[in-house]
Amino acid sequence: MLPWIVRRTRLPLLSLRCVDCRSESATTGEGRFRVNANGKLLDVWLLVRCVSCNRTSKLTVHERAPVRSFDPALLDGYHANGPELVAATLLDPLLARRNRYTLDWQGAWHLDTPPAQLDEAWPLQVEVAFEDPVPVRPERLIAQGLRLSRNEVLRRIKCDISLRRPTSAGFTFVVMMRDSMN
Ligand SMILES: [Zn+2]
Repeated sequence: MLPWIVRRTRLPLLSLRCVDCRSESATTGEGRFRVNANGKLLDVWLLVRCVSCNRTSKLTVHERAPVRSFDPALLDGYHANGPELVAATLLDPLLARRNRYTLDWQGAWHLDTPPAQLDEAWPLQVEVAFEDPVPVRPERLIAQGLRLSRNEVLRRIKCDISLRRPTSAGFTFVVMMRDSMN
């Protein structure tokens, strides 16, 4: 079984409409939180910046949450703008839903493939694992990984999941030899 791994190379952009310039692309940049204490309650935001006009806006991470309810390590992470915490926060589907953005993964991920030994035993089996929740269309990923045309992918790949529907969950597939299916 050949292992393929999908991993993030940087943070994805956000598809989020700017209220000033109507652009639909924003970035977290280096990644910064803002924490505001109000008595015993805390607001936490993740700051994002419009790619076109640089306007900063705030994504609500916590709203008037009791200070006591926070794990101290988490609070430290917010204060220190921990990169892992920035990534986990940005990629949290709940945060995306609440703040009405989607993630734009274009150019933000990479497919790691070990060199395929094409003269090895056929059919070839490949296992795809996701280190980050990058939504990919299996047929595209496979075409890229094996350098096949989309048509060839449809002819030569056997897979239990839909090749057309984007997924970010691991899957396996089998590659048939070029002339084994006629
Ligand atoms: Zn803007």
